[in-house]
Amino acid sequence: MGSPQPLIFRKGLDMKEAVAGELAAAYDSATVDRVRAADFRHQSGRLTVHLAREFGFCYGVDRAVDYAYQARRRFPGRNVFLTGEIIHNPHVNDQLRVAGIRFLSDPDEQSHILGPDDVVILPAFGVTVGDMARLSAQGCTLVDTTCGSVLNVWKNVVRYAQDGFTSIIHGKVKHEETRATASQALKYPEGRYLVVLDREEAAIVCDYIRTGGDRAQLLDRFRDAVSPGFDPDRDLQRIGCANQTTMLMSESLEIGDMFREAIRDRYGEAELAVRFRAFDTICSATQERQDAVVTLLAEQALDLMVVVGGYNSSNTCNLARICAERVHTYHIADPSCLISREEVRHRPVGAPSTTTGMETITRNWLPRSGAVVVGLTAGASTPNNIVGEVIRKLDDFAASRESPDLR
Ligand code: SF4
Repeated sequence: MGSPQPLIFRKGLDMKEAVAGELAAAYDSATVDRVRAADFRHQSGRLTVHLAREFGFCYGVDRAVDYAYQARRRFPGRNVFLTGEIIHNPHVNDQLRVAGIRFLSDPDEQSHILGPDDVVILPAFGVTVGDMARLSAQGCTLVDTTCGSVLNVWKNVVRYAQDGFTSIIHGKVKHEETRATASQALKYPEGRYLVVLDREEAAIVCDYIRTGGDRAQLLDRFRDAVSPGFDPDRDLQRIGCANQTTMLMSESLEIGDMFREAIRDRYGEAELAVRFRAFDTICSATQERQDAVVTLLAEQALDLMVVVGGYNSSNTCNLARICAERVHTYHIADPSCLISREEVRHRPVGAPSTTTGMETITRNWLPRSGAVVVGLTAGASTPNNIVGEVIRKLDDFAASRESPDLR
């Protein structure tokens, strides 16, 4: 008898209503609802908080978390696993552990022994083609929460590969989503990829396209960021741009323009149409959150900005980058980082976003007297209850006698 076919749920598990109360209890916040209803403004004594008009859980994360809770209920008595973090938020991942979901990324788990009795939830940012094939071959029941916006990027990358274009992916090479996206490029024999982190790396590759250069040096620089057997002289002749959905929109667009110019310089205007492709693959939720902080910074005279979200959350780090250009910005993982009115623990803006350990403590972060105006936003993987707790802590630290009770 052959191994059973894997079940792949893509359209929901029909238990949405059953878990709605559980999700609301775990992640909603009356405080945030109240601030939102008050035109995204909270005033208490000397403190004013302006909340960005788009913040927190995006549609993809909302759905992924919902599916995870549904999966736990739908398969009672069976082991339910996540391949790793479902999203980059420590609080949400901890809550899922409490709900009984196990993480294959934990050192004591062994994914190779899973079989038809096991349920595996695939995260919002997807898994690699290889991991998907392996789990399917093992007969696991797969609950696929890959976000539609990520699937859209994959569709473009597969098309590039099919047509013999190398995917130039603006992203973080170690990020799960970028690894999954890059693996899509290898579905066809002609498929290739190269990942660039930022303008600086893009400029190096663009120079090579224009004038050639030291091939070995280029391959060494990008040794962990290219497809196997990558040949820059062959594989940079026809390119298509894509990005990790959570990168900085302005930077992605600029990088796309840099590559367009490089191809034009090398091959001429007439060749551009057959050698260069680009699609806008930043997701709308990321863009809306970035646009909202730009508007907030333009409209309000802020003393400081607080950005809440996991330190390995790409979209949160990029929100912090935007804010830090205009105002003192503290990227905090959760409310416990607001230690006291004297001290805040935070990730320095621009530090590597792949680590959860890089933090610093800043003293005297909150003005001691007089009116204080704080801007607040949260990454796409941060639930409202965390945002609500941050507002309450800000309130406590800036407290005056007339502060209303927000609990
Ligand atoms: S950030 Fe965008 S791509 Fe990622 S899960 Fe949210 S909506 Fe989907």
